[in-house]
Amino acid sequence: MARCSRREFIHSTVAAAAAGGALGAGISADALAAAAQTAQPRGAGTGAGGPVVISSANGLRATKKAMGIMLAGGDPLDAVIAGVNIVEEDPTDHSVGYGGLPNEDGVVELDSCVMHGPTHRAGAVAALRNIKTPSRVAKVVLERTDHVLLVGEGALRFARAHGFEEVNLLTDEARKIWLKWKERHSDRDDWIPPAEVVDDDDRADAGGDVEYTYGTINCCAINGAGELAGVTTTSGLSYKIPGRVGDSPIIGAGLYVDNDVGAAGSTGRGESVIQICGAHTVVEAMRHGMTPEAACLYALEMIAAKTHEKRLLDEKGRPKFDVKFYALARDGRHGGAAIWSRAKYAVFSEGRNRHEPCAFLFERSLKT
Ligand code: ASP
Repeated sequence: MARCSRREFIHSTVAAAAAGGALGAGISADALAAAAQTAQPRGAGTGAGGPVVISSANGLRATKKAMGIMLAGGDPLDAVIAGVNIVEEDPTDHSVGYGGLPNEDGVVELDSCVMHGPTHRAGAVAALRNIKTPSRVAKVVLERTDHVLLVGEGALRFARAHGFEEVNLLTDEARKIWLKWKERHSDRDDWIPPAEVVDDDDRADAGGDVEYTYGTINCCAINGAGELAGVTTTSGLSYKIPGRVGDSPIIGAGLYVDNDVGAAGSTGRGESVIQICGAHTVVEAMRHGMTPEAACLYALEMIAAKTHEKRLLDEKGRPKFDVKFYALARDGRHGGAAIWSRAKYAVFSEGRNRHEPCAFLFERSLKT
């Protein structure tokens, strides 16, 4: 398959860059130029510019909403935020906003950031409690402060000051999922599941039917005037240590927009994305000529090459976790890639709202 050979090629360019010490200092220009030549253009809208909206796979409603707003003349940042608000407010999505899975104490803490291409301004909130739509608070940080990132209690007080309504974000359904985790993830504490459902495997590793998850929505758009914007929003890693901040509210990790080049965002294991400045790496790779898809693969290869902890690797030395990158170039090309196969991303372009397959580094075995 063509993807495999490109993967091998990119792998060799990353290895070559690493051997030359280039990874630590930035992206090797030679590696990027070579990969750009090899990579096949992908994605509808090649060379056509906007309007195009892309999102993580859970964002088909967001891409539709955002496209509608842009076609009606709305600003792309307002458009993508309105798009992800649908998912933030949806109690059935346990990875974002209201209804998101909580931290280990049973408290929902949300992360989000936004970035506006034409002004290159950004806003973000992290570990924000009680507010359903952290992306809107992030936008107010962008517009009404001289800061980029507010966290925790300060972020909540800021949201209050701007009139955001406070609610308990922990739905009954999410509370029950958390309680199940709490009662089963260890047999060395005093929490015990109801007698009829005790299952030693579940208690040992939080596996079985206990929902233990990452999950996020990223959405980026470009309008007909070539103006880019993006947003990422999440409840983060379920059962995280209170105060843990993932990649989603970090400009350059979970989202980056450069109006001269393109936009990129991520979902998946945030720690790994932060460690390679993920979204920024993707945008810089596009700046040096890679297609959106090749740029996403390049950043994923960097994650694979930089993951050294045994606990995070399988028996073949591959990351056990997943990360996905989504990228939108200024000319309207788009692409997505994941560490593991069978991922998709959402895209609305040329009048069609649909899922497209993500490229990948490693094929999932049929069993998983
Ligand atoms: N990236 C998010 C985080 O680490 C979670 C995810 O996208 O699955 O918080």
